[in-house]
Amino acid sequence: MDWSRSETLALAKHNCTQCHGSGLRLVRNGVLAPCNCVLRTIFRICYGRFIKCATQERHLSRISLEPHCGRQRPSTWGRKDEEYMADFCLVTRRALTEPEHQLFRYHFLLGADWKLCTRKLQMDRGNFFHSVYRIEQKLGRAFREVQPYALFPLSDYFHGPSRLGPPSARPEDRKQIPEHLRFPPIGRVA
Ligand SMILES: [Zn+2]
Repeated sequence: MDWSRSETLALAKHNCTQCHGSGLRLVRNGVLAPCNCVLRTIFRICYGRFIKCATQERHLSRISLEPHCGRQRPSTWGRKDEEYMADFCLVTRRALTEPEHQLFRYHFLLGADWKLCTRKLQMDRGNFFHSVYRIEQKLGRAFREVQPYALFPLSDYFHGPSRLGPPSARPEDRKQIPEHLRFPPIGRVA
């Protein structure tokens, strides 16, 4: 997928030494890639939303009506917060290796600090923070690039177009009414 400057600019760290606040950097063959500071920002935004969904009171989770152009049902009911938490965990598990996922669970899901993690995982402090950075970057990219429904931007995830079928294909489908179901043409008598 293509990353544009207009997208990365708002997410970049203004004092980043790699991208100098533009959010893009040159990689091999002159290709522009998102800077690690952008990927980490995306991760932190998605992670913050996950924490909010996971820690809110159960009754605050709202049921939302999701409109779509289905043939039989014009809309369905869904629990977006729960869907989001499930997608978050699924993407995380797919994107990370087993050791990375273990660290992710201890540190980000169970809230263990670096002292506890380094003791439990038999690693030193430097390696721990390197791993955390790498995990944040991997997940930031995964949350933005996962297909067909990216977790980021959150506004698209929570309020975006219907998830059930491409809306562009549906109206044409509906126009093709079978012959036997069409009204006969109105004659002159009418
Ligand atoms: Zn940067």
